[in-house]
Amino acid sequence: MKQGKLIVLSGPSGTGKGTICKQLLPGADAVLSVSMTTRAPRPGEEEGASYFFTDREKFSEQIRGNGFLEYAEVYGEYYGTPRGPVETHLRAGRDVILEIDMQGAMQVKAAFPRGIFIFIMPPSMAELRRRIESRGSESPEQIRERLRKAEAEIGYLWKYDYVVVNDDLDRAVGDVSAILRTERLRVNRAAEGILDRFQRETV
Ligand code: 5GP
Repeated sequence: MKQGKLIVLSGPSGTGKGTICKQLLPGADAVLSVSMTTRAPRPGEEEGASYFFTDREKFSEQIRGNGFLEYAEVYGEYYGTPRGPVETHLRAGRDVILEIDMQGAMQVKAAFPRGIFIFIMPPSMAELRRRIESRGSESPEQIRERLRKAEAEIGYLWKYDYVVVNDDLDRAVGDVSAILRTERLRVNRAAEGILDRFQRETV
């Protein structure tokens, strides 16, 4: 049975990774992993859909039980990818998208070097600042912190396989879809599925 692939999307806060994922999913033939976090829900966020919201104690328990594929502290809160559902999907041959920060992406890369690592870039730092400011959910100090982290994250761009600049949402979604389609056509990937079908076919 062919294994699914891990697809990691990272990029600075405010680049529109979440929006790209939402638009991508209906036609992507992949599932999105739902992370666990200790941060409070924002208005409109749903338990189990946006995140699994939890407290620090339960998060620590999950770490001790090896329940995360990766986890990281981002802006003073913890975020992690629950291991169980991801492994189940991969074993069933389904591709899984992780929308996680660069620290988590590097942990996933160490464990799954054959994952697909995509970096979503803002068109410019000025545009990134404008997008974060227009969300209106962060204080001036939090905005400065996000911009500092963005600069540090962009320094890790070279560790990724692909870069997509989100200056136009439709084009960015199209670019990510094209990456996924191309990866599925790679010989070592496509051949697994084709051989699998041939071997199950009785003549
Ligand atoms: P937000 O609080 O704005 O939803 O997310 C803050 C940052 O945490 C974003 O960069 C997001 O990609 C990242 N993030 C979300 N879930 C995870 C996760 O499970 N692991 C890691 N390492 N980062 C995550």
